[in-house]
Amino acid sequence: MPKDVVNIGRGVTLLRVDNGGRFRPTNCLLIDSEAGLVLIDPGADSESNITAITSAAKQMGYPEKKVVAAFATHGHPDHVGCFERVRAAFDCECYVHPLDFPLARSFPTHFKKVMAALTTGGYVSREEPEGDLLRRLLDGVGDPLEARVRVTELTDEIAGMYGLSLVETPGHTMGSVSLLPNVNPGVMSVGDTVLPTLTAFLTSVDEFFRSMAVLRASSPRILVPGHGELLSPALDWINQMESKYRSRVEQVIATAQPAMKLSRARTLIYGDLRDNLNQVGERTVALQLAQTLGYLKYGVTKGYLVEDRSDGIVKFRKAERAP
Ligand SMILES: [Zn+2]
Repeated sequence: MPKDVVNIGRGVTLLRVDNGGRFRPTNCLLIDSEAGLVLIDPGADSESNITAITSAAKQMGYPEKKVVAAFATHGHPDHVGCFERVRAAFDCECYVHPLDFPLARSFPTHFKKVMAALTTGGYVSREEPEGDLLRRLLDGVGDPLEARVRVTELTDEIAGMYGLSLVETPGHTMGSVSLLPNVNPGVMSVGDTVLPTLTAFLTSVDEFFRSMAVLRASSPRILVPGHGELLSPALDWINQMESKYRSRVEQVIATAQPAMKLSRARTLIYGDLRDNLNQVGERTVALQLAQTLGYLKYGVTKGYLVEDRSDGIVKFRKAERAP
């Protein structure tokens, strides 16, 4: 077998699809279930992924075109982007959690909305360099990226029909799920909820912490992350991922004194804004702003911080009576 195809034991094969080089490779699982061959995370919109899936399926003893269903752990384009091609190649349904439908259907539209909310919500002012950066970025996110992906609602029943157990693990995205193949229940496909780099974008910090407890409770043996090496023992990785983000949140809450703008908080965590960023660099900064806002809002939800809107631009400061 080529080195990008790994048998994880009892009916589960890991295939690292290359996404045509547009994204980092995605870990795709092929599951030999009672219902037939089931895919998890076929990856980005690339025909090379279909070729790789077809040949891995053949190695597993499946004839041509025998994939019966495809699932995604969440709605990001490097996980669901290939759905249209999967549907065309195998004539099967493609499932994602309904909370990730907006993401999955059109990531650029979703991205624009999140970025625009930073300025319209009063978190970044148009006068700051960050405000200028967001404006340029939003102008640059064009409609050519507007590929529409069709998705079907992932439910417990649907997962069960195809030999999978579904565990909701929101945080990275609101519709993030983890999937356990019934043929090999020690293996858990967690998408980008736990990654070997211990770094993931968190849409909701609060949900993420809850999901870490949920993952621990399902006591998996091996985690299959969305990208990179398999994670084992699973519990160690779950704990490491959680403690990294616990300290990050503590760091943000500790620096919020006296009053701090979002752009200042981002600088404290990620470093100074450099001049002449390319579009990828600008996108990274924008995501860092959104992520930092997530930490600060978590601090507000938990009663450590308050939002001060007296200046027009939102400032965060320590709550009088922090818990
Ligand atoms: Zn993701």
